[in-house]
Amino acid sequence: MGVTLGAFSVTVLGCDGGYQAPGGACSGYLVRAGSTRLLLDSGPGTLANLQRYVGLDELDAVVLSHDHPDHWSDIEGLAVARQYALSAPAGAPADSTARERVRVLAPKGLREITYHCRGDAFDWREVTDGSKATVGALELRFSRTDHGPETLGVRVSAFGRVLAYSADTGPKWSLGRLGGGIDVGLCEATFTSAHEGSARHLSARQAGTQARDAAVRRLVVTHRWPTVAQDEIVSEAAEAFGDSVIPASQGLTIDL
Ligand SMILES: [Zn+2]
Ligand SMILES: [Zn+2]
Repeated sequence: MGVTLGAFSVTVLGCDGGYQAPGGACSGYLVRAGSTRLLLDSGPGTLANLQRYVGLDELDAVVLSHDHPDHWSDIEGLAVARQYALSAPAGAPADSTARERVRVLAPKGLREITYHCRGDAFDWREVTDGSKATVGALELRFSRTDHGPETLGVRVSAFGRVLAYSADTGPKWSLGRLGGGIDVGLCEATFTSAHEGSARHLSARQAGTQARDAAVRRLVVTHRWPTVAQDEIVSEAAEAFGDSVIPASQGLTIDL
């Protein structure tokens, strides 16, 4: 087909919605494409899990979808690690300690509510609805979802394949807003249909329906509240999607 195929995968570092279950972690995903390493959200617990796969000095960029702490709080530890702990030992020439700053792509206002990220730890860039970015082998495109603060879903493309991440959203936005040809839809399904309308999130039924409407090839459901049963999420999403769905779990890697 003329398309150069390289390794392209997403690994779940955390998938709990809102807060962590015992031993759990909130939203965070490691996207790898060729030699490119992208961290997609960094909720509590994800920094520890990230280090199972890559060194903290090996990231090319971080995307933070919105300012709810279950999607970004571990960026604080990453800032400390990169600014201090990973620095060259005392006595090394000053310019040899200069570490390339990692690009962080986030909506307006998020940086200001952090503690360690307001300095030089990162190369911080604002993104918004419609923004595009290139990170190594990855092409990114952002779309504002239906959530409280400005929240950006993202289309991540590499080697002719497409990952679409909903971030957090209510039902007035759909994965289809990230365009067609979605190979893997990583979509929030926070609760079951019994909770629909109680918060600006998707039920498993709504996630399955919008993934079907967007002709998503494989659906991964994530961001489940710890109080909600996994098997109920999976069965409800699968019925609406019309095919089996994959529940996100820590350590799960999906090859695109
Ligand atoms: Zn969330
Ligand atoms: Zn949120």
